[in-house]
Amino acid sequence: MPDLSVEHVAKAYPTRSTPLTVLRDVSLALSAGENLAILGPSGSGKSTLLYAIGTLDPPTSGTIWLGGQNPYTLPEAALARFRNRNIGFVFQDHHLLPQLTVLENVLIPALADGAPTGQQQQRARDLLHRVGLADRLDHRPAELSGGERGRVALARALVTAPQLVLADEPTGNLDHTSAMAVARLLLRLQQEEQTMLIVVTHSIELANLLQQRKRLDDGRLLDYGESASP
Ligand code: ADP
Ligand code: MG
Repeated sequence: MPDLSVEHVAKAYPTRSTPLTVLRDVSLALSAGENLAILGPSGSGKSTLLYAIGTLDPPTSGTIWLGGQNPYTLPEAALARFRNRNIGFVFQDHHLLPQLTVLENVLIPALADGAPTGQQQQRARDLLHRVGLADRLDHRPAELSGGERGRVALARALVTAPQLVLADEPTGNLDHTSAMAVARLLLRLQQEEQTMLIVVTHSIELANLLQQRKRLDDGRLLDYGESASP
């Protein structure tokens, strides 16, 4: 049984007139160590799908299973804990907190359960070492390049050792060289940690680094290269 199973997920946003249907009958499955790229132009529903899988915004219908649990059945506080422990997020603009150091930023997901343990602090340092920032622990985000901020965001996404990492255009704001370096690093960490990884992107070059490619077309998830039904 896969560790992540997305079953017949649909999403429609309410509007003043007819609801806006963004996802139609999306299904996918992933196991530990697997990665998947989801391609699609702007507005095709990539972020909507990632937010639904990330337990941030429930689908209108369909079910998501992660590690044998349907997270949307959990009460709010338990859902937040579940998300924090099981899912790491990498966003396009990284969302680092400017007043915190690099090390403190990486430890943010670990703060949900109180002060970070010594073990969590050690893991944060270890991850920063692995992304090549061991000598930048006390720096603030403003003192880093875009690519370095991206690498901090990777360490932060992995600090709780999540089962699943979700990346939304993780290199979208970087120059080409930095973007590909951050993407390769993300994949290396994912392989080392044997997490599941989904990257949504409009970049075929980035998507080509991943094991599998799918694309969103009119709300449906198709194999990349497959044409929509006539
Ligand atoms: P992508 O990430 O592929 O650019 P999104 O998932 O952000 O696409 O958006 C898909 C569609 O859903 C767009 O048409 C967008 O305007 C619409 N949409 C996204 N979020 C909302 C919302 N909260 N309310 C209404 N419409 C939304
Ligand atoms: Mg988006």
